[in-house]
Amino acid sequence: MKMIIGDKFVSASDHTTLSVTNPYDNSILDTVPHASKDDVDSAVSYALQAQKKWKKVPVYQRVELAMKFLELVQKYKEELAETLTRESGKNITEARNEINNIFTAWPAFCEKAKHLYGTVIPNGMERGHDSNLVLTKREPVGVVACIIPFNFPCNLFNQKVAPAILSGNAAIIKPASDNPLTVCRLAALLREAGFPAGIVQVVTGRGSTTGTYLCEHKDVHAISLTGSSSVGISVARSAADTLKKTALELGGNDAFIVLEDADLDLAVQEAVQARFYNAGQICCAPKRFLIHRSLYSRFLDETVKRVSALKSGNPLDDQTQVSTLISEKAAIEVEKQINLTIEQGGRLLLGGKRTGAFLEPSVIADVPASADILHNMEVFGPVMPVAPFDTEDEAAALANDSVYGLGGSVFTRNLTSAARFTDELECGCVVVNGSSYFRSFEMPFGGWKQSGLGTEGVYSTFDELTNIKCIALKGIVR
Ligand code: NAD
Repeated sequence: MKMIIGDKFVSASDHTTLSVTNPYDNSILDTVPHASKDDVDSAVSYALQAQKKWKKVPVYQRVELAMKFLELVQKYKEELAETLTRESGKNITEARNEINNIFTAWPAFCEKAKHLYGTVIPNGMERGHDSNLVLTKREPVGVVACIIPFNFPCNLFNQKVAPAILSGNAAIIKPASDNPLTVCRLAALLREAGFPAGIVQVVTGRGSTTGTYLCEHKDVHAISLTGSSSVGISVARSAADTLKKTALELGGNDAFIVLEDADLDLAVQEAVQARFYNAGQICCAPKRFLIHRSLYSRFLDETVKRVSALKSGNPLDDQTQVSTLISEKAAIEVEKQINLTIEQGGRLLLGGKRTGAFLEPSVIADVPASADILHNMEVFGPVMPVAPFDTEDEAAALANDSVYGLGGSVFTRNLTSAARFTDELECGCVVVNGSSYFRSFEMPFGGWKQSGLGTEGVYSTFDELTNIKCIALKGIVR
């Protein structure tokens, strides 16, 4: 597959490529260009030119193009879902869900784009301004780098590209190097729908090279990146040199807290559903399970029963629930993290074995509070570390003792306890009686601490990707 620069589908200027592999059977699916610095420079220069015209196109016309894009996605949705499954190892049911999310996200961003009203600061609010009127409106920032992770490439394409272009920016999309194909295809459909050359471009390649060129480019005005915290921190550093706007949605190690009075069946159901969806590769999945000692052994028994029943296999099979991780390299990393947790005192109850990119769904009990996994080690795979606690204070302190602050959840029938945890947890979203993988396109989703900067969603992304302009009408009120 080619990348999109200007009005053309192109190879890299130095003709280098990256292979895209199916992690389930190791077959090579395709190659994509490995964009060089020259390619990135060229994309940015097209974007700069095109955006000058695009920002003048009325919002209702931009929305009409988005509606055409949705018709094309409708036509190709099964092909898109299968491509997503093949390049990611994501099971086909989840891939179809992700493609279907396009029909929720884009109309919502379109509606919001049509209602981005400005404000009026009336005269007479402040001494000396009796006759001055100030209007505010939002203007596009210019060129936006949309940097997408591997785990939910289409959801994150929606979250970034829709608000970027609907608000008048030019988007340069950098998909993850392991699974760029579905995102490239979606970008091509945007072009086919009529979004102009230079407004939707894709540069494919490794983050450490292509991604870095893009983030360091002086004419990129904003970076919207979803990825790991270490990458987010390095991107924030390079963005600082030219003071780019940054919206960073990063890693997490969300605590899942089950209090003494919780509905245990609900907690087990939510824990297993959330931790093993997408083979555990979810930023806001619960990743540390803290269970009140009175429910601890029942929680473990019920969880092991449910996890043992998960069906693994070929991700293209409708029945498969857990398939491979994104790559063998990623699975080896998770296997090491499991072994480290066992060395640090955890007791493996289930799973732990790896074959290629497939890792058995794993449950590790009795994890000591000192173990890395209960603090700063994000595990991006199908692994549940479980630990008992005795007091609410102990659970809250452990949950907060992490560099991450993406989300958290608490299970209780007591409103006062729920309110206490929603106040105390240091993170961007607390879910009561549900797991923190709860996410809607509407909500402002974002992390505290090293889990991110800014929030993403219909509620807030337009604020991140536009600038406020004040227009002062001096002396007009008499
Ligand atoms: P990653 O950080 O390795 O890569 C993310 C993207 O950044 C990829 O496109 C990659 O090529 C690019 N990249 C890497 N280095 C770069 C650099 N130096 N400059 C510019 N771009 C660079 O992350 P991943 O492995 O694709 O995704 C998993 C991580 O993403 C996990 O930590 C997960 O928690 C996080 N994540 C967060 C959210 C959220 O909304 N907070 C959502 C999904 C995933």
